[in-house]
Order: sequence, then C-alpha cells, then structure tokens
Amino acid sequence: MNIKNVFKPIVNPYIGPIIVSALIISYLIIFILPDISHENEMKKIEKNSVATVNKLKIIRSYYTSSVISKVKKHPNIKINFDHKIKNDTIPLPATLLHNLSEILPQDGIKIKMFSDFPFPNRADRVLSNDEKIGLKFIMDNPNDVHTKISVQDGKKVLKVTVADIFYDQGCVNCHNTRADTPKADWKLGDVRGVIQVTQPLKNELILSSEQMIKVLFLFIILIVVLGTHYTVISYRRQKEHKLSKQMLEEEVISRTKTLNQYKKAVDYSAIVSKTDAKGMITYVNDQFVELSGFREDELIGKNHNVIRHPDMDATIFKELWDTIKSKKMWKGQIKNRTKDGATYYVASTVIPILNSDNEIEEYLAVRFDISDIVKSRIDAEKADIAKSTFLANMSHEIRTPLNAIIGFSQILSRSNELNIEQSKQASIIESSANSLLAIINDILDLSKIESGSFQVNNTNTDLYFICEHVVELFSKKALEKDIRLVFNMDHKIPLCVYTDGARIRQVLSNLLGNAIKFTPNNEKISLNISIISLTNNRVNIRFEVVDTGIGISKEKQADIFQPFTQVDNQTNRKYEGTGLGLSICTHIVESLQSSLKLDSQIDKGSSFYLY
Ligand code: ADP
Repeated sequence: MNIKNVFKPIVNPYIGPIIVSALIISYLIIFILPDISHENEMKKIEKNSVATVNKLKIIRSYYTSSVISKVKKHPNIKINFDHKIKNDTIPLPATLLHNLSEILPQDGIKIKMFSDFPFPNRADRVLSNDEKIGLKFIMDNPNDVHTKISVQDGKKVLKVTVADIFYDQGCVNCHNTRADTPKADWKLGDVRGVIQVTQPLKNELILSSEQMIKVLFLFIILIVVLGTHYTVISYRRQKEHKLSKQMLEEEVISRTKTLNQYKKAVDYSAIVSKTDAKGMITYVNDQFVELSGFREDELIGKNHNVIRHPDMDATIFKELWDTIKSKKMWKGQIKNRTKDGATYYVASTVIPILNSDNEIEEYLAVRFDISDIVKSRIDAEKADIAKSTFLANMSHEIRTPLNAIIGFSQILSRSNELNIEQSKQASIIESSANSLLAIINDILDLSKIESGSFQVNNTNTDLYFICEHVVELFSKKALEKDIRLVFNMDHKIPLCVYTDGARIRQVLSNLLGNAIKFTPNNEKISLNISIISLTNNRVNIRFEVVDTGIGISKEKQADIFQPFTQVDNQTNRKYEGTGLGLSICTHIVESLQSSLKLDSQIDKGSSFYLY
C-alpha cells in the first residue's frame, strides 16, 4: 500500500477538514472526556460521602444532647448497645449511628464505623484490607479525607473514609467512665475511629458547567473554522469557474470565427449540403443552388434523389448508405442532373456527423464539380478507342496487301525464270515484307492492349510441338551467326497443357529473336523449359531464354519493358527493332497470370524468364 494514498484524503481540501474534525472529536470523546468525567464523579461521590457523614454526626450529637443527657438521669431506662433486645434500654449514640448506617443507605451505598478500639460487643469484627488502609491513613492524617477505588461484588466502588473526632467533653467522659470501655484515657480532639462511606462508581458523563462551556466552545470553533474554510473554497471555486467560463466563451467565439472562415472557404470552393439522419436535405449552399438550378426552398426537406441522374447505378447509392450508416466516410464520383436535365459530375465526400452519444445526427456532403475533368476524360477515352480502332483497321488494311507481297515475292524468288540477281532481289522483298508484317503485328497487339480488347484464348496445347517449332524457326537465324542454340525441355511436362499456345509461341519467339539479335557470332543461346511444381492437375512451368550476348545495364533493365524503349536508341542504330516486343510480352505474360523477369549483366549476357 502506498503511504501517499493514505494521506491523500486528508490533504483533499473537501473531505480533509471533515476527517480532521472527526479525528479531533473522536479523540476528545474517547480519551479526554472520560478522564475528566471520572475525576468529576470521584469528587462528587467524595463530597456526597463527607456530607452524609456530617449529617450522621449532627444526628448523633443532637441525640446525645437532647435524648441521652435527659435519659441518663432516669432510673429505669438504661443506655446500651443491646437496646434491640431489652425494653428498658435505648441505644448508645455510637450504636444509634451504627443502626442508622444500616437503615439509611440506598442505591448500593454502605456506611461503616470502625476503630482500633472496639467495645467488647464488637471486638470480634474483622476489618478488610481497604478498611485497614483507610483507618491507618486517617489516624495519621485526621484532617484529610481518604478515597480509594475498589471492586466489590464485581462492581467498581469508591470508599471515602473520614475521621470521627471527640468534640464533646460529655462524650469523652462517658467513654472514659464506662465499665466496658476499651480505652479510658480519651481526650477532647482524639480520633475515636473512622466512618467509611462506600458508593458505586456509575461511569456517568459528568461535566462541570465550565468544562461544558469549554467543550461547546471547541465545537463552535471547529464549526467556524470549517465554515470559513468551505466558504473560502467555494468562493475560490466560483472565481475559477467564472474565469474558466469566460475563457471558454472567448475560445468558443474565436473558434466560431475560425469555423465561419472555414465554412466561407468551403462554401466558396465546394458544393455543400446537409441532410438529417433520414436523408432529407436541411442545408444547401449557394454553389449547390447555382449548379443544380433548383431554388433553395425546392431542395430543403427533399431527398437528394431530385438531382440523381437516371444513369446512376442504384448499387452505388446502396453502398453509399451502407457506408455512412455504419458511421464511415464515403467517397466517390456521382453523375447528377440539373433542374433543366443537364448532366454534371461531382467528386463527392459524405461524412456522418455524430452527436455526443455517438449516434448519427446528420450527414454532411462536400462535392466538387468535376464535369470538365470527366468530360475531357470521356473525350480522351473516346479518342483513344478511336485511335486504337483506326490503328487496328489500318494494320488490317496494310496486312492484306503485305500478305500479297510476301506470297508473290515467295513465288517469284522460287521461280526458275529469274536469274540469280533477280531471285536475290525477290528474296529481299520477301524478308522486308516479313519484317514489316512483324512490326504491323506488334502495333496491332499494342493497340489491342491499349484499347483493352486484348484477350488470351486458352485451349488444350501441345507445348512440345510449339516449343520445338519455335526453336526450329530460329535455328536458321542462329546458324547464320554461328550461334549454338540449345533446347532443354523437362520430359515430365504433360503432353497437353491448358493455356494460350499461340501467345506462348509469340513470347518465346520474341525472346529468342532478341537473344539472337543481341548476341555476337559464335556464342550460345539456350531455351530451358522446366517444371517447378505439378499438383492436382496444375503444372507450374518455367520458361527461360539465356544468352551470352551484350547484356543490359542495371539502370536500363526496368525501362526496356516499356513500349518503344530500347537500350540503343541512337538514330543510326546497330540493332533493328521497334522497342515494342518486351512490352507486349510483359502484357501477354501478365494475362497468363505470370510475370516476365530479367537477370542480366553487361557483356556477360541476359536471362529472361517467366513461371
Ligand atoms: P526491340 O528488340 O524491337 O528493340 P524489345 O522490346 O524486344 O524491342 O526490346 C527492347 C530493348 O531491350 C532492345 O532494343 C534491347 O536494347 C534490349 N534487349 C532485349 N533483349 C535483349 C537481350 N537478349 N540482350 C540485350 N539487350 C536486349
């Protein structure tokens, strides 16, 4: 337990003083008042006891002077301690006192007379310890009162012992002359014995008026101190409260000012509207009114449907409502219509505004007019599609006569009627036309890719046949450069694979063509086809074309996959080509859910692979 936590409530300005006051009052009630009260009770009992003894002495003296002195002269009446059993005897003054001590006391009070010189009739009495102590003390200090707390029958009692002194010569004479006197030389002022009064201690709360006033005064002081403390605290609190309220008000004013400026800025630049939780418009700004063509009163209390364009798909609005109802922000493009039916586009953000209970109170929509952007984008897309269609058509138009040129130049070059020079020229026409056709095919593919009409056609494909055919096709070109073309194909590859064989052929042709093109004479090129995995009728195959050619620098490696990009792009280039092949290959490979990768080192060679 942390000691600081124990003292925390005490130093708290609110409950601290109450705790301290309670501690003071408890201390007073438990430790101080009982002691004071006890002392008071003792004094009270002592005073009562002395008063009782004095009263008894007065009675005895009255009895001696008014009864005994007269009866003494009477011949038939005797004065003795045995008066109870004899009809002609009255009690001695001391016997009267003894008898009264037995008759008078009430409420547990006991009175006893005893001395060191008892008459023979009382000689066998036994004194208790307390009585002996009291007797001894008074014999030594006859003018004092002896008090002692003692326990009697399990209860606390106070024993008060007072001296019984001879003040009357008659009494002295009588005591000295009696035949049964235990001592015959008593003098006036001698202590005959003691009278002891025993009273129970009741443990009552007894306070003197002075003490009561002191206690009351203490309580009043406590109340005044507490009252002053709490008044000061509440005054301070009020002052702080007033100050913080003032500060808050100033903060609210300044923030409202800033917010108004923001609102002004937003209203100036954006189309703003608010709806209640049910979607009914509660606010529209001037821009909204201006763009939609509706008056403010035609919009307030209506649904946003009034500006909804019929072309808009209902699922978009469902998604919008699902999002904002789940307290999230929605962003999207919306096609709207004006009061006159004209179309406009907005980039819209709808924000649910929550109250302090985190419940949706209203929705705020901020929109920007993007009609110009959307219209120019649509125009650009249309132009793009038109361009691609044009290119596709043009390619088709060019390919038809080109095929005729290739066909006829082939026939011409094999004709026996041409001389050597002429058949060489016919071959040049054929190869040039073939190159042109390849370029046109590339352009056609690229335009298809750009117009989004490029598709792969998966069928059951014999990869062995396709790959062997490609190798065969390029072995002639390789031979021309004395390049060794090695073909490795894993025999575990299934005979029939479901893929687009024509596109694979196109990719491999491109990679092999480039490899031969960018590899010097007498080098080596390999086409490696291997299995990576074969599970549940799915085969993952790796195709790799490795050459020992010129290689590609690290900086250029990423660029060459972009259309029209070549490492060697000077005007009088060493290598032929359009820079389209790799970008088309990338697209084809990605359409086949794969990717084309490259490892290359300048002057060491390149490895293009896909899997
Ligand atoms: P093209 O070969 O028609 O120029 P590609 O898109 O096929 O277009 O290739 C782009 C460029 O990438 C080439 O011009 C060449 O600079 C580089 N390149 C492609 N393959 C290789 C290769 N095997 N070795 C070195 N460079 C290559």
